[in-house]
Order: sequence, then C-alpha cells, then structure tokens
Amino acid sequence: MENGKHIKIRMCVACRKRDRQDNLYRLQCKNGELVSFSGRGRSFYVCRECINSKKFINYISKLCNLTKNEAKEKLFHFPFYIKEKEFI
Ligand SMILES: [Zn+2]
Repeated sequence: MENGKHIKIRMCVACRKRDRQDNLYRLQCKNGELVSFSGRGRSFYVCRECINSKKFINYISKLCNLTKNEAKEKLFHFPFYIKEKEFI
C-alpha cells in the first residue's frame, strides 16, 4: 500500500536526483571515517548510480576532509561499492 503519505523523498548529493529514501544509501562522516548512518549526527544520501562517481568522491573528500584517494579508499570498503561496480 503506497498512498504517498509515508514515502520520504531525499536527494542524492552527487547528481541531485530525488528518490525515495529507501532507494538511496545514507552515509555520514565520523571522525574522518566514512560510515553508514548511525542514527545521530549529520548524514547525506547518495544514489546507486553515483556511488562510483567522481562527483561523489569529491563530495566526501571535502566533507570528511580527505584527499580524493583516501575518500576512494574508504568508499571501496563498503560492500555496496563493489556490488554496484560489478553491476555497472
Ligand atoms: Zn546520484
């Protein structure tokens, strides 16, 4: 049952496309580490298409104060990163 009332729409930080919250990955930066949202603090959303994108790498490198290589490295450890890469 989807009547639209309970569907949250969020925006991907890389491509700014809007999608249902459950179609996006929710991450956050914690002490210089990229982690899945813990329930507290500032978080951001990214869509499946943008996981491997340069735009997203740029975004998290700025947000977490990392070099682009460090950001890539941290992202690489997320299971969905590898999965999505194979998918593409
Ligand atoms: Zn996106």
